[in-house]
Amino acid sequence: MKTNLHRYLALLLCALTTLITTPLSANPLQMINVADNVYALIGPMEQRSPDNLANNANFGFIVSDQGVLLIDSGGTLAGAKDIERQIRTITDKPITLVINTGGQDHRWFGNSYFAALGADTLTSVQTQADQTARGDNQSDSTSRLTGDSWNGTDPQPAQQTISANKSLTFGDTQIQIIPVGPAHTGGETLVWLPQHKLLFSGDTVYLDRMLGIGGQSQHLNWLAAFATIDALNPTTIIPGHGMPADLAKAQKETRDYLTLLRTEVSKLIEDGADMEDATNIDQSAYSYLKVYDSLHKRNALRVYEEMEWE
Ligand SMILES: [Zn+2]
Repeated sequence: MKTNLHRYLALLLCALTTLITTPLSANPLQMINVADNVYALIGPMEQRSPDNLANNANFGFIVSDQGVLLIDSGGTLAGAKDIERQIRTITDKPITLVINTGGQDHRWFGNSYFAALGADTLTSVQTQADQTARGDNQSDSTSRLTGDSWNGTDPQPAQQTISANKSLTFGDTQIQIIPVGPAHTGGETLVWLPQHKLLFSGDTVYLDRMLGIGGQSQHLNWLAAFATIDALNPTTIIPGHGMPADLAKAQKETRDYLTLLRTEVSKLIEDGADMEDATNIDQSAYSYLKVYDSLHKRNALRVYEEMEWE
């Protein structure tokens, strides 16, 4: 009897320890097989939380005989482990390369975990510079929003950089890594799979939820970055946030939205209106997007702020 009780307590302790060291995600990533050997992991669209492990974004991975290429590494250590767990339902090959598409937390805070497993970490020079410049600030806010799920997170910028487009072949999959400069963050990087006409856009494209123009964003260059996507003419886009879709939807919800703000703000500036007037711009055509209420006025103010200096 006593032995049974001890065994029970030992099991209970073991289960509790597992729960404490590996917080379980209440918002598991949704896996979609988007092409041969290519998978998208679709995260929730809400703000970072202890439950979503700051994986409130999309990720992707490509499988070959030699290993796995991961696109973006998660917003916390627990988030990185959750991504790995999903990959392990498909393959036991080692994760050999991580590409970061941007400088925002969920793109790269899991880098050190995958590097310790033996992966190289790669991004563009501008994305790495943004990671380095804003890493501490983002650690402060993400740790606050994720509570205990932050435990053990050690943000490490990508260790390898490219300064121009780079092509590589990973198993049967051709990949182009395309730096597009500042957009949502100080440096965004696209991952293009020409055989499938499939684009992992990172935060250059937001779908189904309102994009965010923050203090680090540059909306004019964002439109230039989107022109690169127009030229690629993808069949499918895995956006930074939201469900995969075609180019027309991305044009509407990202490019045309930025253009609307730019057009309306430039009218206000010509008319000598104040910055506050930008909050009255009619954005109701986009009110169906998630988190519209919390972001649309700030977006207009940010565009005004930027355009004042053009
Ligand atoms: Zn993001």
